[in-house]
Amino acid sequence: MSQRKRAVIKPEAAGQRAAGRASAGRAPAGRAPAAPDPAAPNAYGTHRVIEPPGSLPQAARKLDNRPEPYDNEVLIDVETLNIDAASFTQIERACEGDTKRMAQMIMDIVADRGKMQNPVTGSGGMLIGTVAKVGPELAEKFASGKKAPPLKPGDRLATLVSLSLTPLTIEQIKRINKDTDQVDIQGKAILFESGIYARLPEDLPDRLSLAVLDVAGAPAQTAKLVRPGDTVFVLGAGGKSGLLCLYEAKKRAGVTGRVIGLGHSQASYDRMVESGFVDVPLKGDATRPLEILSLVEGATGGRLADITINCVNIPGTEMSSILATRDNGLVYFFSMATSFTAAALGAEGVGKDVSMIIGNGYTAGHAEIALQLMRESPKLRAMFEEMFVK
Ligand code: NAP
Repeated sequence: MSQRKRAVIKPEAAGQRAAGRASAGRAPAGRAPAAPDPAAPNAYGTHRVIEPPGSLPQAARKLDNRPEPYDNEVLIDVETLNIDAASFTQIERACEGDTKRMAQMIMDIVADRGKMQNPVTGSGGMLIGTVAKVGPELAEKFASGKKAPPLKPGDRLATLVSLSLTPLTIEQIKRINKDTDQVDIQGKAILFESGIYARLPEDLPDRLSLAVLDVAGAPAQTAKLVRPGDTVFVLGAGGKSGLLCLYEAKKRAGVTGRVIGLGHSQASYDRMVESGFVDVPLKGDATRPLEILSLVEGATGGRLADITINCVNIPGTEMSSILATRDNGLVYFFSMATSFTAAALGAEGVGKDVSMIIGNGYTAGHAEIALQLMRESPKLRAMFEEMFVK
């Protein structure tokens, strides 16, 4: 964590919290360097953590969400939140689909935590909005080219870091769209210096970009993992990230590979089939591992999948993914509803030698790769516009 050489203007009360912090100079020879002070403004935003002290903002229970930027932060006027699918589904179920109760639950979470981090799923989502203010220290970095792309007030952007670490205030919830998991609000958010973002492209509708960027890591990772000739199995294949993964898997596996998709409801099954990106469409419930194993055995002549990608939005689907994958194969858990314990102990319990990847939401170039798919495939774009531009 770099030490700042110049004074940083802080929102009022935070000054007291930081006052009296240890000076952060070099340690005398032979002594261990002083531990960095988490209350000192830094790129990762630990200065906004209220509880527990010393944690990073994602792991924190509560953040200081005052909409006044530090010198190294960006203040955003927020228009729309894209709530993570696992979180949205949990909120929708807990409120029995009543949008008034859902709005209240979202307001309560943000009031309690200073960020939109679902306490049950732990996940967040992302947002689009307009830059309201850029702290002077960051503005200098943009001007000198030390940080890119540069941002200035009035720029429209999507944050590519999770809402689970983004300080947020909501003044009003204007609309909840249960078909798209998007929530229109009036509110303000803070982007930390280390936070990644993308300027909203002018050739795509904002709601389309928001939907695609929310799951940008999935197709970008698929592009890196799938090799020509692979048999790829995608669970949740008729959903948002599932369709992007199907498309990318088909492209990478090529004519010698095979793409198998699992739809759940008739609607998501039909969507997957209509896409034309799937060689073998299957329909089933991913919480029933033996049934899914049997379907995939049937589709592969017992060989199973080389790579399995889990894009489901509910818990309890780890074992379907693991059992459907051949020994020495790979399971990529993009789903936020994945339990590390269930996956690790479950694989051990059935004696499956598979590698498992946690779906890091970020991989280099993920935003550009995902948005480019909308330009590359008219079919994909038409399907996404129908689903998300409303
Ligand atoms: P989505 O569009 O809601 O798609 C989820 C899919 O899961 C739907 O097609 C749904 O099918 C299917 N599904 C639900 N229950 C099922 C079951 N019992 N069996 C089989 N399929 C079932 O969600 P998304 O936006 O693509 O997100 C997918 C997952 O990725 C979520 O868990 C989300 O939290 C996670 N995510 C991860 C990251 C990351 O950085 N790793 C980032 C964003 C999102 P039906 O509609 O037919 O039920």
